[in-house]
Amino acid sequence: MATIEYRQASRVYDPTRPAAVNRISLSIEDGEFLVLVGPSGSGKSTAMRMLAGLEPIDEGAVLIDGKDVSQTRARDRDVAMVFQSYALYPNMTARQNMAFALENARLPKAVIAAKVQRAADMLELGPLLDKKPSAMSGGQRQRVAMGRSIVRDPKVFCLDEPLSNLDAKLRVSTRAQIAALQRELGVTTVYVTHDQTEAMTMGDRVAVLQDGVLQQVDTPTHLYEHPGNTFVAGFIGSPGMTLLDGVTVRAGRALLGRDHGLDLGLPRELAGKVADAVIVGVRPEAWQIVGAGEEEPPGEAAVPVRVALVERLGAEAFAYCDAVTTPGSAVGVRGGRVAIRLEKGAAQIHVGQILQVRPAPGGCSFFDPVTEINLEYL
Ligand code: ADP
Repeated sequence: MATIEYRQASRVYDPTRPAAVNRISLSIEDGEFLVLVGPSGSGKSTAMRMLAGLEPIDEGAVLIDGKDVSQTRARDRDVAMVFQSYALYPNMTARQNMAFALENARLPKAVIAAKVQRAADMLELGPLLDKKPSAMSGGQRQRVAMGRSIVRDPKVFCLDEPLSNLDAKLRVSTRAQIAALQRELGVTTVYVTHDQTEAMTMGDRVAVLQDGVLQQVDTPTHLYEHPGNTFVAGFIGSPGMTLLDGVTVRAGRALLGRDHGLDLGLPRELAGKVADAVIVGVRPEAWQIVGAGEEEPPGEAAVPVRVALVERLGAEAFAYCDAVTTPGSAVGVRGGRVAIRLEKGAAQIHVGQILQVRPAPGGCSFFDPVTEINLEYL
C-alpha cells in the first residue's frame, strides 16, 4: 500500500525534441486506481515506466510513500508491472510462473504455496495451475500474469495496456475483473490505456495526457461533465464532443445561426470571461433534431447537417453527420463532423438526409477561443 507523487517529473529522450513526459505533477492516493489515458505517443507508458524505475527521471522527482525514489533501482521500488505481452515463461506451468519470483527471493515453500493458492483463488485460476501458457486462452494467460504480480504483494501495481491482446468481449469482462480485484486488494494501481472507455469504466480517477503534458486529472463523471479544455472534451466520450468555433457572443449571450441566432445558454457567471467569441462544445446526447431538409424550421434557429453514417448499436444509435456550410456563417464545426445520439424511434434517419439540429438548452460547454480552456476553470 502506498501513495505516489510525480513532482514536476520529466523524461527527455532526445534533447532536440519536446520532452516525452513534460513536468508532470500528480498525486495518487493510497489504494487508488488511477488510469493514464491519451492518444498513442502521448507519454503514458513513459510516465508509468518512470514510476516503475524502467526509465530515468531527467527532471523533477517521483515519490513513493513520500520517499524520493528517482535514484532507486527498479527492483527496490516494490512496484509490480503487468505488460500487454504477458511475458509468461512458456516452459513453466501457471503455478511455476506465479511462484518463480518468490522462489528467487528464497521464501519458504509453504509460504509460496499459500500465496500462489490465494492468488489462484482470487483469479479463479485453480483448474489452470498445472497448465502451461500454450494450453491457455489469451484471457487466462492475462490472469496468470496478474497472479504473478499479486503474489509479490507489491506496494504498487503498474498495468500497461494489459487488455489490448484480448477480443472485445473478453476485454469487457476482464476489465470488470481487474477493477474488482484491485478494489479487493486495495493496492495503489496505475493503469495505462489509449482507450477512453476503459479509462472511464475502471479508474477512480483518470489522468489525460497529450504530447507529454498532463491535461486534466479527475473522476470519470467530472471529466465528462466538466472537461478542462477542448482536447479533453474531444478525447473523452464516445463519440467525443463536437466543437463549434467562432460562435458570437453579444451582450453576454452566445448566439448561433442567422438573424437573432439561437441562444446557447452561456451562464451569466461565464459571460464576463470572454470577449466577442467563444468555442462551444456539444455532447452527442445534447443535440436535438428540430427538422429535416434544407429549410430551417419556422421560428427555430438550427444548424444544417448531412447524415454520413448511422451507427446502430442496439441500446443506442448515433448519426455521424457532415456540417453543411451556410453562406455568411462565421461558425466552423471542428473536423467538419457532428456526432448526434439518436432518440429511440429515430429509425427513419438515413444516410444522405439533411437534418436541422440544435443543442438542447443547457447542453453546451464553453471554451476560451485563444487558450481553449473551459471557461468554468478560468
Ligand atoms: P504512449 O504510451 O502514450 O503511446 P510513449 O510513452 O510510449 O507514449 O511515448 C511518448 C513519446 O516518447 C513518443 O513520442 C515516443 O516516440 C517517444 N519514445 C518512447 N520511447 C522512446 C525511446 N525508448 N527512445 C526514444 N523515444 C521514445
